Amino acid sequence: MEKVIIIRYAEIHLKGKNRGYFERIFCVNLEKSLKGIRHELRRTSGRYLVAAFADQDADEICSRIARVFGVHSYSVGYRVSNDLDSILEAALVVCPKSGTFKVDTHRADKKYPMTSPQLNAEIGARLLQAHPSLRVDVHAPQGVVYLDIREEGTALVFGTFEEGAGGMPVGTSSKGVLLISGGIDSPVAGYMMAKRGMEVEYLHFHSYPYTNEQARDKVIELARILSRYTLGESITTVKVTHIQEEIHKKCAAELNVTLLRRFMFRIAERIAKKKGAKCLITGESLGQVASQTIEGITSSNAVVTMPVLRPLIGFDKEEIIVRAKKIGTFETSVLPYEDCCTVFLPEFPAIKPKLSFIEEEEKKLDVEALLEEALATAERFSLH
Ligand code: ATP
Ligand code: MG
Repeated sequence: MEKVIIIRYAEIHLKGKNRGYFERIFCVNLEKSLKGIRHELRRTSGRYLVAAFADQDADEICSRIARVFGVHSYSVGYRVSNDLDSILEAALVVCPKSGTFKVDTHRADKKYPMTSPQLNAEIGARLLQAHPSLRVDVHAPQGVVYLDIREEGTALVFGTFEEGAGGMPVGTSSKGVLLISGGIDSPVAGYMMAKRGMEVEYLHFHSYPYTNEQARDKVIELARILSRYTLGESITTVKVTHIQEEIHKKCAAELNVTLLRRFMFRIAERIAKKKGAKCLITGESLGQVASQTIEGITSSNAVVTMPVLRPLIGFDKEEIIVRAKKIGTFETSVLPYEDCCTVFLPEFPAIKPKLSFIEEEEKKLDVEALLEEALATAERFSLH
């Protein structure tokens, strides 16, 4: 009897001819998530099994697997040979000792000498014999003993189904650069795109010395938490202090945020191209703040050619907070350190800035020189 964790995958099976490709990436991601824990990952038809791990690591393995996109569900159970005595031995471990139960058999091996109902009855009867206070209830049992009769002469026996993260394996939907601030929204936006299979690179803008190291460390910590799902390795930071100073000195105050955002997008696109990413991702939500209007979006989209994905565009703040709490980023996001957008914040930012006015004001700046200068400040921090 071998203790195993059984992993079933989600939408991957829908992908027809690409199935092999999806499964390869899924397998690599599972291995990445289990790095540092002794284990063996085995593939059986339509499932993965984690085996050969130490008993005390089982909970940690489960919590890591629960965060891998593409996992539909998982179960802790036993792999045994498919004779009745071996099946019973494992069934006795996963079965409740009192109350109601049923046995639920799935037979992948259609040549197995007993049918599923026969197996349910036979193992059920033996369990009742072993635990006389048990009762069978096939409609609403308190416990279920699942038997999965596999083709290779083995059976999987388990008592629970845990829900996985769903979605698609990270890396199957291209790569995007996430503009990550220290706020609540952008980490959630990154999570959502990773869930659809996108590989996420993190990019953060800071205004040192107006913003401090604590603000930077907070964003690095957010990226680290997020990377339990996105499997990201590092974060890039870029200093935009001089850009903000120049805008502040030379341009109309109500355009401070609008102009800064256009610089952020330009820098992000250049970094994305270097990293082989094909889109940008932001945490913008329509109408949430002055710059998140259609005019604001138009103004920043106008300086890039890559698509800008805004997965939170139709979400209320409350909905975003619920997700941030579930992901585990919320507590870090609400720490007080300021990120760069609040430095030089105008009293009345333009809500519907006209593109012609923005472009006129921007002519007062040496855009290209400022971009080059900012890009030269790029730093990379490992998330490990
Ligand atoms: P968040 O909660 O993600 O900070 P927000 O509600 O504070 O969002 P804004 O400050 O307008 O909204 O930022 C909108 C988006 O712009 C953010 O979601 C993020 O994607 C990007 N962004 C803002 N500030 C930064 C920054 N300092 N570095 C990188 N990206 C940023
Ligand atoms: Mg913010």
